[in-house]
Amino acid sequence: MRVDVCVVGGGIAGLAVAARLAESGLAVTVLESGQQIGGRARDERVDGYTLSDGGHLLHTSWSTLRQTVTPAGLALGGFSPGVRICAGGRRIRFGAAPTRPQQPFSALRMPIGTTTDKARLSKLLYRLATGAPERALEGPEHSAADSFAVRGYSGELIDQFLRPYLAGLAADEDLAVSVRGADWLLRLLVRGRFAVAGAGIGVVARELAGQLPKGTVQLGTRVHTVRADRVVSNAGEIRARAVVVAAGPYSAVELLPGLHEPRMRSVTTLWHAADEAEIPAEPDRSPSVLVDAEPGSPVARTMVVSRAAPSLAPPGRALVATTVYGEDGKQLAALDRTVLERLADLHGPAARRWETIDIRHVEHGVVTMQSPHNFARPVRLINGLYVCGDHRDLPNIEGALQSARRAASAVVEDLRARS
Ligand SMILES: Cc1cc2nc3c(=O)[nH]c(=O)nc-3n(C[C@H](O)[C@H](O)[C@H](O)COP(=O)(O)OP(=O)(O)OC[C@H]3O[C@@H](n4cnc5c(N)ncnc54)[C@H](O)[C@@H]3O)c2cc1C
Repeated sequence: MRVDVCVVGGGIAGLAVAARLAESGLAVTVLESGQQIGGRARDERVDGYTLSDGGHLLHTSWSTLRQTVTPAGLALGGFSPGVRICAGGRRIRFGAAPTRPQQPFSALRMPIGTTTDKARLSKLLYRLATGAPERALEGPEHSAADSFAVRGYSGELIDQFLRPYLAGLAADEDLAVSVRGADWLLRLLVRGRFAVAGAGIGVVARELAGQLPKGTVQLGTRVHTVRADRVVSNAGEIRARAVVVAAGPYSAVELLPGLHEPRMRSVTTLWHAADEAEIPAEPDRSPSVLVDAEPGSPVARTMVVSRAAPSLAPPGRALVATTVYGEDGKQLAALDRTVLERLADLHGPAARRWETIDIRHVEHGVVTMQSPHNFARPVRLINGLYVCGDHRDLPNIEGALQSARRAASAVVEDLRARS
């Protein structure tokens, strides 16, 4: 078989690169080892609930996502701006969308940190909020721990806000994350809102697959060898003018020895359901992403996803997604009991009686942004051989899509130059 481009992997990045190449008039084939498209961003409907491997948090400011999936398809359900950080019985909101220059950010009103902290953080948040997202990734690379010390933040601000926020959103409790990644995440607090896909996270892959000619994706096809002009899989050999490896971080390293191997962390997502009336409303009656800062708690973040997007649960029922990082996945029942006990503090005592719908453990779930981190790793390895995915860019859905764009542009440019 001969094609213009063979894409290895039918996750978000693979489908996105294929859709852009097909749009450019190239004959593309996508080889996916699994029986479904979507990779780590799949979903399924179980008894009227939409579940996935992770409680995927998206953000209304992600422009590549918005340009890729139709608003009606994505049906973004937004949370209140920012997050609530919960510890010691307190639930403090961090985040505000500025409407005019120099408007005081919530950093100024938060009951945490010194006056100097608030002034410094407000200045940073203002700069991040008024600049493009890429600007947050500019500047020197250091760990968050080192940079926060240089910026002069107090221990209180770091331990009660910055550390739990980065633990909840970047799977990093040690402030080992790149400060540029940390700033990119801080920007999400002051521009737009966190949100979930009302159609389920799988909609991204479904829409992308819908943009491809019929028969482009071959499921159940595991690739074991890649070259710049061919791919060999359990289904045989395909010759191609270009090959794009979009197989996820670890498989990409297996297929392309020598490629940078990112640090990944396991993610366990606990899906619980309850009667809607059993979960008290937030004080402002709008749903929040709760980040857990309680010492010793396994919970990183928890959210009533059906309050942001009611279509994710049957009428009258609430669906709650709770994220835990770094577990080994061996004691899931015990973890569930511990988590429910903590959720009783966070969502009300009825949580102890909630129904556990599912617990999903993904051993290599998310790429960490451990410093030093390169947020724009090259996607062109040699002329004819390319790589994309969340390990070449920001480690999330937006990053997977951005890396696919870069890879598609490189392929088109090289093939044009060759012909
Ligand atoms: C539990 C969990 C929670 C998450 N939470 C969030 C979140 O809140 N927000 C967010 O933005 N992102 C989140 N992410 C990350 C997000 O899902 C990923 O960044 C994104 O899906 C990566 O897409 P990808 O295409 O780069 O890689 P993948 O999704 O890994 O796709 C790779 C594909 O290649 C296939 N493949 C692998 N090897 C081969 C081979 N040899 N031959 C053929 N096919 C192969 C795989 O089966 C897979 O389908 C989460 C991920 C997990 C697992």
